[in-house]
Amino acid sequence: MDATVKTAVCIGHERLLKESHQTLVELNELLAGVLTIGMSGKERENEFRKRQAKYAKAYNNLLNHARNCELCSFNSRFNMRSAA
Ligand SMILES: [Zn+2]
Repeated sequence: MDATVKTAVCIGHERLLKESHQTLVELNELLAGVLTIGMSGKERENEFRKRQAKYAKAYNNLLNHARNCELCSFNSRFNMRSAA
């Protein structure tokens, strides 16, 4: 019982964290030119805007979740207290 409480992670937060990380990886790949080989400048620009928006949205979802989720706000309060 105790172990479950201590290792409790928010599934929703984990998912959003993974999502925003994934979109960031894709954005970096795009910036590195990995995904745009053979694309014209305009195509590349469109692709960049699309991925940037995707990342911004995923990151925003993550922030909103952390603000609204009871488990996450409990965890961050707990972390702050143990860090102090
Ligand atoms: Zn949460």
